[in-house]
Amino acid sequence: MPYLTIDYQKIVRNTRAVVDSCAHYGIDITGVAKVSCGNARLASAMLRGDVQAIGDSRLGNIDRMRAKGIEAAFMLLRSPTLSQVDAVVRTAAVSLNSEISIVKALGASALKRGRIHDIILMIDLGDLREGLWADELIPVVRAVKGIPGVRLVGLGTNLGCYGGVVPTVTNMSLLADCAQAVETVIGRSLRYVSGGNSSSLPLVRSGVMPSKINHLRVGESILLGRDIVDARPIPGCSQDAFKLFAEVIEVKRKPSVPVGRISRDAFGQRPVFADLGPMQRAILDLGRADIDIDGLVPECRQIKILGASSDHLIVDVTRAPRLIRPGDTLAFNLNYAGLLRCMLSHDVEKKSCHAE
Ligand SMILES: *Cc1c(COP(=O)(O)O)cnc(C)c1O
Repeated sequence: MPYLTIDYQKIVRNTRAVVDSCAHYGIDITGVAKVSCGNARLASAMLRGDVQAIGDSRLGNIDRMRAKGIEAAFMLLRSPTLSQVDAVVRTAAVSLNSEISIVKALGASALKRGRIHDIILMIDLGDLREGLWADELIPVVRAVKGIPGVRLVGLGTNLGCYGGVVPTVTNMSLLADCAQAVETVIGRSLRYVSGGNSSSLPLVRSGVMPSKINHLRVGESILLGRDIVDARPIPGCSQDAFKLFAEVIEVKRKPSVPVGRISRDAFGQRPVFADLGPMQRAILDLGRADIDIDGLVPECRQIKILGASSDHLIVDVTRAPRLIRPGDTLAFNLNYAGLLRCMLSHDVEKKSCHAE
């Protein structure tokens, strides 16, 4: 059975490296655990690395972490659905929002419980995922001010996701200016001026993040130890806290181009093949049901991924430094998408590198 090894001590160290580098500039970190689908040990490793809260996009994940004893403050990252406002108020200490109707519903739900729900308003600085467009910000802030049951505690933005927009001094300064304007309207300072996700870390490390930004929500860079924008390793972080292993079920010398008239593959695509002559091909017990093959890199650089169907991964082992045989185990490094898919697969066993 394929398995994923998780080195929680490396995650603690990576977290601490990111938290320390940001603390120096007065920036708090919420550790984003969503890729782990509610894995409590991962959240616990982030907390040991001194993140100030745990962020997740799904209520189910937060419930799973809490059920396993994680007592952190939870930040709900995906904007709440109208149908789930009660669960949001019950589950999350703070949520990210951009729709006034939903903020009203959150407020009503919180009041019913005799609580106040904290919200961060999201502003879209160009990535075109969630967030208010800049011209609606102040009218919405004025409206939110009058909604009982909710307290506006922050202004945030998200970049580098849908549109791949890179955080820069320019867009971060815009966020800082907007936060200033919001503070003027509400007459108090905001607890969170949240400058985005992992993709904002390089600005912090190079010392150019505007000082008004005091919070980031970081997942990928903590877990994989790399900058998102250029994939460069982050100083003090390991890049291999996660590793995927799968077993070889067939090794044969076969041509590099299929024999016969080629129509569509298992996923309706018309595949194209380069004729590289005969090659030594291995099949592994892993497929698209378990992994995102674009998110997988063989640890041995001489092994190349050729493709995959639902349950079979095919690799070229012609240049492998040792003879690959059925029963051998091959190791892979993962990117974020690759990690997410493995975490979701019931058929990839998760193993800790250390005893419980
Ligand atoms: C997923 C997510 C994050 C974390 O992103 P990383 O790239 O993993 O650091 C931060 N904010 C929001 C709103 C998210 O959805």
